[in-house]
Amino acid sequence: MFLIFKSNSMALMQVIKEPDPLLRKVSKPVQKFDAELTNFIDDLIETMYEEKGMGIAAIQVGKPIRALVVDIPIKEEKNPLVIINPKIKFFSNETVILDEGCLSVKSDNGTLVNGKVERPISITIEYRDIQGNFKELSIDGTKSEYDLWFARCLQHELDHLDGILFIDKLCTMQDINTINKKECMKS
Ligand SMILES: [Zn+2]
Repeated sequence: MFLIFKSNSMALMQVIKEPDPLLRKVSKPVQKFDAELTNFIDDLIETMYEEKGMGIAAIQVGKPIRALVVDIPIKEEKNPLVIINPKIKFFSNETVILDEGCLSVKSDNGTLVNGKVERPISITIEYRDIQGNFKELSIDGTKSEYDLWFARCLQHELDHLDGILFIDKLCTMQDINTINKKECMKS
């Protein structure tokens, strides 16, 4: 479900929640890079900030197109990155376990649900920007905390495009124990 506004003013959209079957849909590539897309992405960005998310995929407001927005709040200023029709070029062998939550996964009382997920620490993608220009992006998650979460958030949002939620990838209790010990030893 989403609001369609013809004006240029931004509109907040409703974030759909698990178990809405739309969240399991594989999103389709964007074909037209036009004003309609730009307006939609503006609204998606606004909705992400309103919901205090660090990323959101179009399908989370019910639109099954391969588009997502990321902005890691570790840096002060707002700096949303729009990613359209992404393709994964590289995943690092090195992985890391981090806590994830999702704007579309909430408990019955409306609080966010968190869980530990293991994913590659670094990633390279190619994608198109809002004008349709081809771009490449490499994020080395070992560089800084910002990059660590940037790479993580991006992978979480990429999964949304294929109908995958983080709750599908939760670590088992045994994994959590092992990794927690490893992390303690590192610090
Ligand atoms: Zn999510």
